Amino acid sequence: MSRQRVRVCEVGLRDGLQSIATIVPTETKRRLLDGLVAAGLAEIEVGSFVPPRLLPQMADTPEVVAHALTKPGLTVTALVPNLKGAVLAFSAGVHKIVLPTSASWAHSLANVRKTPNEMIAVVGEIVALRAAMPGCTTRICVGISTAFGCTIQGDVDEAEVVRLAGAAIDAGADTVALADTVGYANPAQVRRLVRAVQDRVGEKLASCHFHDTRGLALANVLAALDCGIREFDGALGGLGGCPFAPGATGNVATEDLAFMLNAMGFETGIDVARLIELRSTVLAAALPDEKLWGAIHRAGLPKTYRAAGRKAA
Ligand code: ZN
Repeated sequence: MSRQRVRVCEVGLRDGLQSIATIVPTETKRRLLDGLVAAGLAEIEVGSFVPPRLLPQMADTPEVVAHALTKPGLTVTALVPNLKGAVLAFSAGVHKIVLPTSASWAHSLANVRKTPNEMIAVVGEIVALRAAMPGCTTRICVGISTAFGCTIQGDVDEAEVVRLAGAAIDAGADTVALADTVGYANPAQVRRLVRAVQDRVGEKLASCHFHDTRGLALANVLAALDCGIREFDGALGGLGGCPFAPGATGNVATEDLAFMLNAMGFETGIDVARLIELRSTVLAAALPDEKLWGAIHRAGLPKTYRAAGRKAA
């Protein structure tokens, strides 16, 4: 039986770096990206097309995109909050954009000053923009943030998440993703919500994005894997804080995620040992004041571990 492939998308250059105060030089971002590609990452979210005055950490996104596009076979993804950002991303030639749409009204208004329905209208405008640009093949993914709960409003109605996912696909988005922006999800909830969204949009629910804020990210990945999800976001060193929980852990660490998936027999194409090395030689070196997270870097790979692509003895 051939091994099942699971795709891991590295979001540290966006989700990680946007949440810290340090502005990482473009050259360091390039080195990180080179290292991630060398370690086998097939998709990298390289930045965000937001106004530089709002997020100076992301001001060099066009340069990082240009560098990423030189890597053969790499899917280059960028976050886009609005139509203006989509124009820039499409012109830059990114392969995929992620449009964050919050399932929480309170979070949506605080974050993008739009209601969830207004964001769905933006999805429609971006789909129309793509159709009007000859030769534009950029895929449009709507990332439903705060899908599992919200620090501002608390509970997020699951029916509302399902409705938004359906509305995004109806508006012409290619895929949707579920994001646990603030680390509220638990595995039972993940199973329930993933199935409910799959009932509405099927395989167009492509990926899940978990934060390890409360230590449940890998458990939540497992629950989503059980439901057939085969794409997950992660950030090297677990970078990516939560503005509402200072000191909290960030995204699930890519090296831990890839280790678990590889050890379970999934094919990720990722060389975990190289990721661990990249974490210390480039990421930790570039961010000496930033706390990094994750587990596998501490003890290293177990002797029984078989690297991706190697046949079991
Ligand atoms: Zn995130």
